[in-house]
Amino acid sequence: ETLDKGLEKSKTSFFNKLSKAVAGKSKVDDEVLDDLEEILISSDVGVATTIKIIKRIEERVAKDKYLGTAELDTILREEIASLLSESQGDDAATFQHSDKKPYVIMVVGVNGVGKTTTIGKLAYQYKKAGKKVILGAADTFRAAAIDQLQIWADRVDIPIVKQQMGSDPASVAFDTVQSAIKQDADVVLIDTAGRLHNKVNLMNELSKVKRVMQKVTPNVPDEVLLVLDGSTGQNAFEQAKQFTAATEVTSLAVTKLDGTAKGGVVIGISDQFKIPVKFIGVGEGMEDLQIFDKMEFVDSFFK
Ligand code: GDP
Repeated sequence: ETLDKGLEKSKTSFFNKLSKAVAGKSKVDDEVLDDLEEILISSDVGVATTIKIIKRIEERVAKDKYLGTAELDTILREEIASLLSESQGDDAATFQHSDKKPYVIMVVGVNGVGKTTTIGKLAYQYKKAGKKVILGAADTFRAAAIDQLQIWADRVDIPIVKQQMGSDPASVAFDTVQSAIKQDADVVLIDTAGRLHNKVNLMNELSKVKRVMQKVTPNVPDEVLLVLDGSTGQNAFEQAKQFTAATEVTSLAVTKLDGTAKGGVVIGISDQFKIPVKFIGVGEGMEDLQIFDKMEFVDSFFK
């Protein structure tokens, strides 16, 4: 499967390190736990989540007196899966959702994380699923952002609403939602500016976009999707912190999980922020976006 391929580096590295830590050991002792702690942190699971996982394993080791290292793999899987369940729920995410029309997804994230690419891939998936999609180029601060989104609109062959660079992002969002209603579109994907210059500005910008969209139709956006670059470790944590402080983020997309040994960031971020990871990016192509499947993720992490 492509997920296996995409996460190859993450899992190879995690698996190899784990195997090394338990090599020649028959029991999960303090030394194994120390090594495991280091492995989790170096895999970008994050300190807080790592401590939580280690504590849970310590408890199980204490309860059963001793655990063989062979069981460590199983227990780790169980604990990581259970952590992910707490934020993911037990259902796998899906592209298909409520029949609400238009279903408006506001996409946020800093420049360079793969926001535009994720929007393009999502648009493609929705279109493939038979949905009518419209893009809104509300990142009006960079000409390149508008151009990039236009390229994706052409590639996927869907309409895009845009204005010139420097125009009001909220006005673009307004036009997009209005146009979606006129065209009876199913899904609206709104790109937003990814400047993290300061929290108040970010908050004001995003809330204005929301407020103005709501003048067209109430209760939008239906989803605020934060895009994070899975290869940036602690930066991704920091961005999640800033965006969740600035607006209500309802779902996450973690990109660039191909070519990185840092898939662990998915575990830490979903635990720390209790926001479901809906999609993962595993390449630059149109098809390289996958619906996040908790069990599949855990399996490929350990394989
Ligand atoms: P934006 O500034 O956040 O809109 O970022 P872009 O969408 O322009 O992406 C920045 C770069 O990351 C581009 O070269 C993309 O092709 C690349 N990219 C985006 N998502 C992925 C992914 O999942 N895997 C890989 N390998 N590259 C990606």
